[in-house]
Amino acid sequence: MNAQSINRRKLVIANWKMHGDISSNQHLLQAVIHGLSDYQQADYVICPPNPYLFQARELLSNTKIAWGGQNVNQHDKGAFTGAVAAHMLTDLGCTYVLLGHSERRVLFNETNLTAAARFDASVKSGLTPVLCVGETLAEHEAGLTEVIVASQMDAVMATLNDQSFAAAMQVNMVFAYEPVWAVGTGKTATPEQAQAVHAFIRHRIAMRNSEAAGHVRIVYGGSIKADNAKKLFSMPDVDGGLVGGASLSADEFIAICKAAN
Ligand code: PEP
Repeated sequence: MNAQSINRRKLVIANWKMHGDISSNQHLLQAVIHGLSDYQQADYVICPPNPYLFQARELLSNTKIAWGGQNVNQHDKGAFTGAVAAHMLTDLGCTYVLLGHSERRVLFNETNLTAAARFDASVKSGLTPVLCVGETLAEHEAGLTEVIVASQMDAVMATLNDQSFAAAMQVNMVFAYEPVWAVGTGKTATPEQAQAVHAFIRHRIAMRNSEAAGHVRIVYGGSIKADNAKKLFSMPDVDGGLVGGASLSADEFIAICKAAN
């Protein structure tokens, strides 16, 4: 596998979760745009709450920074109050969407099956899905990391027929290893722990398509900060980061993005 594949430019994604308002978003986006203007060796994505996607489009349109949704529904339209369809995200210029985030799984009862259906709907609409996988602390301590990650990956792989898999390759699908014990906790996986699971995820993709596996970006998420990003990003199978809390501070997020250059 060629770790330096041209398809694997480093990728840093900001997950703002349920934070922000029009005024603070404007300051944050303007600071990030300015701070990253000279750092173009990596790709960047901002995922604000849905009501602010319009604002993201307005401010990011003429920059190299992409924007995306924090989730999407698998249905195209209909009586699904509160849900957002993939074509609505693309209508707002989104190119990425987060899927299967641990907060969605734990707090909103989303499952491997719904994540798989949303993944399929996303790639069919031309969105790049970022599928989050990762084990809880109890699973980690029980030595079940690979079992859990494999089950989360396999649910998606089994749902994709050959045509959908080709579409997923076309949109450069992304996987995010997010150990649940590290998300929002201040605890970070060591670079070696992250590398081991990322290599496992790549191996799992290779079981479906070995050529594809070398091209797919696998990013790490879980309490990334400016002071741990460089080491994490230096690992051969860590292709960038998914950043929650630290993406709400322009200085911190810019420093993390610089570490990816
Ligand atoms: C996340 O929300 O995906 C995340 C990784 O959060 P944090 O960086 O705050 O741990």
